[in-house]
Amino acid sequence: MTNTAKTKAVFLDRDGVLNREMGDYVCRIEDFHILTYNIPALKQLQDKGYTLIVATNQGGLAKGWYTEEQLAEMHQLLRDTFKAGGVEITDIFYCPHHPNFTGDCDCRKPKPGLLLRAIEKYNIDPSLSYFIGDRERDVEAGTAAGVKGILIDSDQPISEVLGLIV
Ligand SMILES: [Zn+2]
Repeated sequence: MTNTAKTKAVFLDRDGVLNREMGDYVCRIEDFHILTYNIPALKQLQDKGYTLIVATNQGGLAKGWYTEEQLAEMHQLLRDTFKAGGVEITDIFYCPHHPNFTGDCDCRKPKPGLLLRAIEKYNIDPSLSYFIGDRERDVEAGTAAGVKGILIDSDQPISEVLGLIV
């Protein structure tokens, strides 16, 4: 017997959605300010059965502004902070490329590569899924992957768009 049941997901951009938008890449953990006011809204989405997955451009890696280790430290802090509030971040997909430094890639948003990888890995049904981001390129990446994009302002509470998610 095969299990064909698919997962539904809410994809989340990182900067400006889960941590404070700082105007450019966050290079230091001291500048990584997690928006803990979003914990109740994320908990609600999780309770509705959505898997929570982060998809973020991290071109600062290609530029050498920070290392994979520093990034991993920030992401561990993100996961631990949300976990303490009862919210499980299932995975964090990031694009380490930048066209000026590493050439083109298929994962830097607005390309859908990060979402497509997550969809494949977690058997996600894109038609049941959403992407919350604060840039038009997030919505474009979502659309290209068959996921409904929800555009918010940077650092806007996710609770304000919960009504858009069935
Ligand atoms: Zn990439």
